[in-house]
Amino acid sequence: MSTKKTLDQLSCTDCSVYNCRSRSSRFPGFCLTTKDNDGHAIAQDIEDIKQQLQGDDKDAIVARASAEVEGIFYGKLTRVEEIIEFAKRIGAKKIGIATCAGLIEEAKIFAEILTAKGLEYYSVICKVGSVDKTEIGVPEEHKIRPGGHESMCNPILQARILNYHQTDLNVVVGLCAGHDSLFIKYSDALVTTLITKDRVTGHNPAAALYTAHSYYKRLLQPTK
Ligand code: SF4
Repeated sequence: MSTKKTLDQLSCTDCSVYNCRSRSSRFPGFCLTTKDNDGHAIAQDIEDIKQQLQGDDKDAIVARASAEVEGIFYGKLTRVEEIIEFAKRIGAKKIGIATCAGLIEEAKIFAEILTAKGLEYYSVICKVGSVDKTEIGVPEEHKIRPGGHESMCNPILQARILNYHQTDLNVVVGLCAGHDSLFIKYSDALVTTLITKDRVTGHNPAAALYTAHSYYKRLLQPTK
């Protein structure tokens, strides 16, 4: 079966010029900076967003604050420090910590750091509510340890609690893939991530990509 893509199927991961970054080359024929999407004029989308971000609404403040943190501290600050700088620039005073139970010690250290840097926090663990997995239809045999109470992760409750406490910015500390999606969906405050869970790589999911041509070459093997 041919894997050749049509022009319409090509997107940014098929590009090798990245002219959108610095305009030092030419845009490729399929470029997403120049190509309309299903009747939506890309030039109009770009202009709309530019107008929006030139103003003073929350998204504009966030866009400028994150660009400032990127530019001023590029390669100098850890992600922990970047989050603190970002929080201060958007006027966030109270940080919500949505943590995985498996990363509670790391969350505690992060909380200590926030306090040291003059920020308030409120934290909530993924197992909050303590609802057994079987109560939402997870089969007993799909538990990590079948036969006993095993709480489901409850990212919607995590979000609700942080919403009730009116946090200004929520930080994900190692929520599972999918649980993080629900947390982000239900969080009132903006969400950023401190730790992306990967139990196999010590929470460095990029390691699987760096080694996809060696140790993790199974990743590139076609699914049968
Ligand atoms: S926007 Fe255009 S230039 Fe930028 S990566 Fe995508 S295809 Fe390449």
